[in-house]
Amino acid sequence: SGEEAAAKAAAHLADTEPPTIFDKIVSKEIPANIIYEDDEALAFRDIQPQAPVHFLVIPKKRNGLTRLSKATPEHKALLGHLMWVAQHVAMKENLGDGFRVVVNDGPNGCQSVYHLHLHIMGGRQLTWPPG
Ligand code: AMP
Repeated sequence: SGEEAAAKAAAHLADTEPPTIFDKIVSKEIPANIIYEDDEALAFRDIQPQAPVHFLVIPKKRNGLTRLSKATPEHKALLGHLMWVAQHVAMKENLGDGFRVVVNDGPNGCQSVYHLHLHIMGGRQLTWPPG
């Protein structure tokens, strides 16, 4: 039935990791310097900035996206939206000379918070490659 299919899809997308500090930022239980918000996404300044401008873009509902490698076809529209928010806020932050978008995935990627997030860094000349 349609109901069964919906339940299966929900289970498929269910989180397999406990809530993170970002859920408390979404619910405003803990303060953050929020610079953009819409129905699906939130952008706020990183508490340990690695560049003059360093903010994070996250989906408000983690919806299974503990990390980018958990993405399924159902996440495609949300992933596109997060990229759109990244550049939209980067332009509001006067990063017209360029910036960097990073997603750390898993242990080798040095991911520390298991709620998908895009890092946007700019405001200085960045170097390549990263460490
Ligand atoms: P990652 O290593 O990619 O998982 O990045 C997690 C990022 O979240 C780090 O850059 C942290 O500085 C940042 N972070 C952790 N807690 C907070 C917080 N309460 N408010 C803002 N940024 C945070």
